[in-house]
Amino acid sequence: QPARTDNELDAWDRDHFFHPSTHMGQHARGETPNRIIAGGEGVYIVDRDGKKSLDAFAGLYCVNVGYGRKSITDAIAEQAAKLPYYHAYVGHGSEPSIRLAKMVVERAPKGMSRVFFGLSGSDANETNLKLVWYYNNVLKRPEKKKIISRWRGYHGSGVMTGSLTGLSAFHNLFDLPKAPVLHTEAPYYYRRADRSMSEERFSQHCADKLEELIQAEGPETIAAFIGEPVLGTGGIVPPPTGYWAKIQAVLRKYDILLIADEVVTGFGRLGSMFGSDHYGIEPDLITIAKGLTSAYAPLSGVIVSEKFWRVLEQGSDEYGPIGHGWTYSSHPLCAAAGVANLELVDELDLVRNAGEVGAYFNAALKDTVGGHRHVGEVRGEGLLAAVECVRDKDGRVFFDASQKVGPRIAAALLEQGVIARAMPQGDILGFAPPLCLTRQEADQVVDATRRAVEAVT
Ligand code: PLP
Repeated sequence: QPARTDNELDAWDRDHFFHPSTHMGQHARGETPNRIIAGGEGVYIVDRDGKKSLDAFAGLYCVNVGYGRKSITDAIAEQAAKLPYYHAYVGHGSEPSIRLAKMVVERAPKGMSRVFFGLSGSDANETNLKLVWYYNNVLKRPEKKKIISRWRGYHGSGVMTGSLTGLSAFHNLFDLPKAPVLHTEAPYYYRRADRSMSEERFSQHCADKLEELIQAEGPETIAAFIGEPVLGTGGIVPPPTGYWAKIQAVLRKYDILLIADEVVTGFGRLGSMFGSDHYGIEPDLITIAKGLTSAYAPLSGVIVSEKFWRVLEQGSDEYGPIGHGWTYSSHPLCAAAGVANLELVDELDLVRNAGEVGAYFNAALKDTVGGHRHVGEVRGEGLLAAVECVRDKDGRVFFDASQKVGPRIAAALLEQGVIARAMPQGDILGFAPPLCLTRQEADQVVDATRRAVEAVT
């Protein structure tokens, strides 16, 4: 039986639903407002009370094509009627999963060859780690196993991927087992660079730090480096000038694999199909999720390069079939959603739109709130943007945790019908709207942000 009233639904929610990343006590006691989302169309969502909001974070930066796209929901329904499920083990498959694999590889950066499908960004990164270890075992380098990630990187919240994630909020009290994971400098120019340093010098500093770590640990023990082209959950931070070229030079010198985590940046968010293309990154493995299906169904993947694939083939020839997979790897309903989604991205020219409207949006945001005394930096790339708040702009002094203004600005924005995200670490307001955002909608977000910043600070 459905709930008879909203109050009854709220009680069920408090009593039975264990929400992710939520203050459990406050929620169970009903101290925090419930927001039940009932529908969506274009860049807007509607809650159960009929309040419409412009979703300037595309859910969790994933509903890239926007809400209510019938070609995707029809594709899922048709596939469900025809074949809801069959597995992909031992060479089985379904038509949409094979089509989607081809479409992904055709869009991927040069040199990429095959795609393994999972369901979430976290499980895709778990796959990456296993593949990297397998690769070095096949190459008879059993000691080359450590993974380097960056402070403030976000790579998921599983047992291993939680360790890769360089944000303390995802480690606290969880006793994650000591994983062979090391963290290096975050490419966060605004917070980490000396005032006298150019971006280029700071990039060199990050590369030097990486090289120091590799040498201290022994290059023969380091298997891979993982990074998001633009730091996402860690604060929406585009890399400083020259960063990726310098990092890649160090990785090549020590024969270390590069995993580009493109869960957020893949499929157009930066105005290029992949962040790797955008910054000249040449990865061995790429993590994809969110924009692959625009979250109409859960699907993730790992794209491997041809060079990497050859070693996997060699492994199978020597040791037999690879013992890795999930029941729902390349689930036909999700794959059908992926095919329809990527077709729509092309049809609506959303990658170009993300670049053009993204540049317009970022410039307008900077012009409008960048000068405010409590706005330290406005930064972004494509349709990703962040407003970093500070107590004292000149001294670059941040508010204490209890005085953070980001969450209050986000609340003031919501009152005006715009959703932005108070990022989990720091005092940062994040924007990642659907890639179909128009200039008028961008203006609406910018105007509301100006009013919210002025009202709160
Ligand atoms: N990698 C990156 C860069 C992400 O932003 C995320 C999620 O936001 C993940 C991995 C984990 O994805 P999921 O939440 O689907 O497990």
